Amino acid sequence: MTEQELELYASRLLALRGALLRTSGPKVQPNRSAQPETSDDDFQALNEMHQAIASGRNKNRSELMAQISEALDKIKHDPDEFGLCEDCESQIPVGRLNLMPYTPRCVRCQSVLEGTSPLGRKRLTDYL
Ligand SMILES: [Zn+2]
Repeated sequence: MTEQELELYASRLLALRGALLRTSGPKVQPNRSAQPETSDDDFQALNEMHQAIASGRNKNRSELMAQISEALDKIKHDPDEFGLCEDCESQIPVGRLNLMPYTPRCVRCQSVLEGTSPLGRKRLTDYL
């Protein structure tokens, strides 16, 4: 991964964390886009957070925060490790990283961790 890519992921992670911090409680107000003071960056980050929550993979807000912090840490101190699966050390697909830059695992290892069979019928979220 290039330095530029790492910087991009880092800035997206920071935006995501900022959005999470500004959103209090588990309930997210709809129609946030109607607020003129919300910048595009905020909106984008919130969008990503909503996707993450909607995917059901990160039901827990504090867990998501922890993953974001770990990912940022990795970029800062161990950039070679960023984008590699924590369990099998294979490269996490870019599409997955783009949607969830904080994810520490590839789809396969995440499935094993969650006890869902990777051989089962694929849903769209299996590729995220
Ligand atoms: Zn893996």
